[in-house]
Amino acid sequence: MNLLVCENLSMSYENNNVLHDLSFAVEQGDYLSIIGENGSGKTTLMKGILGLMSPSAGTIMLSGISRREVGYLPQQTVVQKDFPASVIEVVLSGTVGKSKRLFYNSYDKKKARDNLKKLGIEQLQNKSYKELSGGQQQRVLLARALCAASKLLVLDEPTSGLDPVATAELYEILTNLNKTEKMTIITVSHDIESAVANSNKILHLGKETVFYGRTEEYIKTDIYTQMTGGDKK
Ligand code: ADP
Repeated sequence: MNLLVCENLSMSYENNNVLHDLSFAVEQGDYLSIIGENGSGKTTLMKGILGLMSPSAGTIMLSGISRREVGYLPQQTVVQKDFPASVIEVVLSGTVGKSKRLFYNSYDKKKARDNLKKLGIEQLQNKSYKELSGGQQQRVLLARALCAASKLLVLDEPTSGLDPVATAELYEILTNLNKTEKMTIITVSHDIESAVANSNKILHLGKETVFYGRTEEYIKTDIYTQMTGGDKK
């Protein structure tokens, strides 16, 4: 079953056409990595999927899920790293968009705690967010995103700024969510090898070349060979 379908999608800023005639579909249970050089339109596509920017042509359609049920992990900014709140407050804030209520009820609180537990950071709930390591902060933001996500999790370069250990742990968490919780994942990635290792589908955006399809097909392409210096698997 398709959760997201993009058909003949074009997106542009004034006269700068960033995405042109892009078509792809994400099925329930997919783990899609979006890769491509800087400026190829990865973040712009995310904005379209999240409904923050309208297509200039074509369509982006979610099916069986509303935009409020999409969990989103944005790229971390310096400001976010110093956010003055406790871990549980940060995670709880992920429930607001979904319920449209001003105050948290016991269901929201249970959900926040369950997601902290799921990510192995229950013991951090009363800690100050800004005092955590980068890897712990990313887990907290992921727990926050999971408060909204019922079926689809969208992430923008979730491992940027993380050390190799925290990066490997985050990939493991995402793989687990995908396999055991059947969470559909769409993630922007700058790390082509990890993308290939972790996802079942790849969307490679570029100025000239675009690939969309299964990972096992992607690794047979010239574009993958060029990107990895001839290291065909
Ligand atoms: P990526 O995420 O792949 O690096 P982006 O989607 O951020 O690429 O950007 C794609 C192109 O759109 C770039 O040429 C960028 O300069 C341009 N762009 C991005 N955001 C804006 C904006 N708010 N206004 C105008 N141009 C933008």
